[in-house]
Amino acid sequence: MAHVKLHIPGPVEVSEKTFKAFCSPMIGHRGQGFKDLYAKIQPQLQQLLYTKQLVYLSTSSAWGVMEGAVRNLVHKKVLNCMCGAFSDKWFDVAKKCGKQAEALQVEWGSPIRASLIDAKLATGEFDALTLIHNETSTGTMSPLAEIAALKQKYPDVMFIVDAVSSLTALPIKFDELGIDVLLAGTQKAFALPPGLAVFAASPAALAKAATTKDRGYYFDFVEFQKNAEQSMTPSTPSISHVFALASKLDEFFAEGLEARFARHARTNQLTRDWAAKHGFLLFPEPGYESVTLTCVSNGARPGGRVVDAAKLQKLVKDQGFLIDGGYGKIKGTTFRLSNMGDETEATMNQLYAALDKAMAQL
Ligand SMILES: *Cc1c(COP(=O)(O)O)cnc(C)c1O
Repeated sequence: MAHVKLHIPGPVEVSEKTFKAFCSPMIGHRGQGFKDLYAKIQPQLQQLLYTKQLVYLSTSSAWGVMEGAVRNLVHKKVLNCMCGAFSDKWFDVAKKCGKQAEALQVEWGSPIRASLIDAKLATGEFDALTLIHNETSTGTMSPLAEIAALKQKYPDVMFIVDAVSSLTALPIKFDELGIDVLLAGTQKAFALPPGLAVFAASPAALAKAATTKDRGYYFDFVEFQKNAEQSMTPSTPSISHVFALASKLDEFFAEGLEARFARHARTNQLTRDWAAKHGFLLFPEPGYESVTLTCVSNGARPGGRVVDAAKLQKLVKDQGFLIDGGYGKIKGTTFRLSNMGDETEATMNQLYAALDKAMAQL
């Protein structure tokens, strides 16, 4: 069956080069080969997260670490900042972990603003918050620097940040921001196959985790720290993913991080231009649009073009590209186009050509 190229916002298209690295011959996870592999990528990961802290490898999707962060770091009550499907779900996950949790809900498409968080944290009820930097369901990016600045005012609150669909596409400076946990699954902006997550934790987060009862084993941050100090993981990792990650990191640094960030900004602008050319509005509040995907309004916002999204998706698929038809309660009234991973102006232009052709057939 012919492969349909992924332009959905995760998982994204995986290159042949990455698959080749993924299929490297297997090695033991307690042997020198694995330790050398992890030790080689550790400084690259630290550079990517702009941190001196260790970066951990979790064989799980992002949700493993998202749940793990709650289990390790919430003693009193967690504030879940919610502005879309993924951030909304984190609230449910916190409750399922038996934690006291409160929803800070804004309308889908709006970002989370620091002033809202400030008002909540001022009550003194919370010892942790969860935030999604780039809410993939709505294509909306919250102002991370503005929010992280609150950490100085509330040093005992654990700032847990999901950068699943943004890390590698723009600078996220873990140490400088002063946040406590930064995590990402690797099937989105990293363009790896699904199944691996990376994260960093602040010294304060690690110290707090060590005092947390019932934090479990698989996502115990203290176990990650102890093992990573020996260039190992707590349990057998997906070694194939680590080979693929090593290959990908070499690519990132061969291109240069700045060039990579600039490429995402350019390809994202092209997608916004494509939408505007056809009379569509964008779904996110202006000024808070994601740089890794474009959530196009297709009736969700007043005004702007409206088309049969399912038909558009099918016409594009017939030409070999998979786009997303909208997520959750905005399915159909939005659709999403991803420029994450390896996409360039040249490859994005192929997508726009297919979209143009489909639009002409609607
Ligand atoms: C995709 C996504 C997740 C969930 O990732 P899984 O890999 O399915 O666990 C969480 N947060 C954001 C922002 C995402 O885009």
